[in-house]
This record gives sequence, structure tokens and C-alpha cells, in this order.
Amino acid sequence: MKIAFIGLGNMGGGMAANLVKAGHTVRAFDLSADALEKAKGSGCETFGTVRDAVQGVDAVVSMLPNGAIVSNVYTADVIGQAPTGALLLDCSTIDVATARKVEELAAQAGYQMVDAPVSGGIAAANAGTLTFMVGGTAEAFARAGEVLNPMAKAVIHAGDAGSGQVAKMCNNMLLAIHMIGTCEALALAGKAGLSMQKFYEISSKSTGYNWSLNDYTPAPGVGAASPADNGYQGGFASALMLKDLRLAMAAAEASGATVPLGQHAAEIYEAFNEAGNGGKDFGAIFTTL
Ligand code: NAD
Repeated sequence: MKIAFIGLGNMGGGMAANLVKAGHTVRAFDLSADALEKAKGSGCETFGTVRDAVQGVDAVVSMLPNGAIVSNVYTADVIGQAPTGALLLDCSTIDVATARKVEELAAQAGYQMVDAPVSGGIAAANAGTLTFMVGGTAEAFARAGEVLNPMAKAVIHAGDAGSGQVAKMCNNMLLAIHMIGTCEALALAGKAGLSMQKFYEISSKSTGYNWSLNDYTPAPGVGAASPADNGYQGGFASALMLKDLRLAMAAAEASGATVPLGQHAAEIYEAFNEAGNGGKDFGAIFTTL
């Protein structure tokens, strides 16, 4: 297939490389010359504009920072420029309302489009082991597999347009809550006279088990390997967690959902970011307790 790829940053760079490895022709565009140079190195063809990149393609994949940029790129340069037979896939994490709006505009212009945000960070993007949560019609989802499979460990149909974004922000709100809870329990165990390692051994096999504790233990030198063992470098940046929590809070407000712990988690990550910790892995909340 001929695939246009827009946004070849930390995530998109590795994803596009995996499409090339799978035998697809990848036509890349990014505002950053550095990102384009790297894309060239991994076998992509590079272009000076989105409009040039989407000419004659079978699919367009985007991996961009936020909803405003996604909306601009699609309405100004993809819709009406790419062939109407091209499948449009936005893999960015953006707000549900914008995802639905862009998909509606695309449908009105005769395109099939899906929102397909991912779970898994830069390492999973490079390894081709992302989980894609896909929102769109059954027909569009059936077409999406050929594009997404080379980048994926799992591709799941979440439901109609926007449902992938709903799944993503609910997943990450839950992740923030169990990460903070795990940090609190580890810190309390240590202060109350139990070794944190012993607490990990017990709780990871008891009803407290969860991914943050079992697979990504946020205390240095305790339990599973994680960025905590490396000064909280790498991993999933607290700034990105805050971004996802803000999307969840916006969706909660728009839909009238009550999310007291999600709200509290957002406040905790907000304060952590304001204190200059946005670049640290999100498990570094442990250091505040
Ligand atoms: P990034 O900032 O590294 O990459 C974004 C790229 O988009 C950059 O190269 C930038 O130059 C490019 N860009 C910006 N505006 C553009 C435009 N108008 N046209 C073309 N290119 C443009 O960000 P990232 O970490 O790769 O994240 C991308 C998306 O993936 C975000 O929505 C993020 O929330 C989501 N995500 C990231 C992670 C992660 O661990 N980094 C994990 C899951 C999801």
C-alpha cells in the first residue's frame, strides 16, 4: 500500500519505520526537518507539504500532538486532497469532540476515517507492539487492520467514531489513579515499618495487585524494573499523563460523568508539572509522598 504518514516524532518515527518494514511505501511529512531526516533514514519518502504527501495514497496515518493540530491538518490539507478512496487513521491522543467532528467532516467529503489512539510508549512504537483502540464503522475498522497490524500487538474495535479516544482517556485516567494509589501504599508500608519489597511481594499476589505495582513498581530498587530505577528518566512523561487527564476531565464535564478520583489525580499531576517535573516518568509521584 501507499501510506502518507503525518507527524514522525517520538511515536510516529518508529511507527512509520514499521510500515516500511512491512513492505508499504510510506510518504512522510513533518514540520521538523530533523524528524523528516530520521524518517528518510528508515526508508520513508519525504515531502515538503501534507498535500504533496497525500497524493495518490491508499491510506493516511497521523500521529500529532493535539486536537487543534489534527483538526487543522485534516480540514486544510487532507480532506479534499487525498483520494476519497483513502482510509484516514488518526492515531494521536486528542479530545473526543474534535475526533468526532473531524470524522464527520471526512465522512461528508466521502472518506472513511477512524480514530485509533494507542496504548504503549516509544519502546512499543519502535517494536511494533502498540495496542490500538479504534473508533469508526465496522467497514472502516475492517480496512484499518492492514495498516495498523505491522505497528500492533493488538487492534481492538472500540465502537463508533470517537470511541477509541473515549477508551484511551478512560484507560489513562484509571492508570493515573492506580499509579498514585500504588505510590501511596508503598510509601505508607515503608513508613509504617514494613519493607517496601516485602509489601510488593505480598500485595502483588493479593487483591492490591495492579499494573503499576506488579509491572512498573514506582519505588527505586523495589519490585519490577521501571524508570524509578533510573532516576525516573524515560518511560511515560508526567506532562503527557497530565494532557490525558485534562482530556478525561473535559469529557467528564461534557458528558456529566462524576469522576472524583480522576479529578484529584488531575490536580496532583497539575501540581507536579507546575513544580517543573513534567519531563519525569509519571511514577515519580512517589517522590512527593
Ligand atoms: P512528538 O512531539 O514527539 O511528535 C509529534 C510530531 O508532530 C513532531 O515531530 C512535530 O514536529 C509534528 N508536528 C506538529 N505539528 C505538525 C503539523 N502541523 N504537521 C506535521 N507535523 C507536525 O509527540 P509524540 O510523543 O510522538 O506523541 C504523538 C501523539 O501520540 C500525541 O498525541 C501523544 O499524546 C500520543 N502518545 C504518546 C505516547 C508517548 O509515550 N510519547 C504514548 C501514547 C500516545
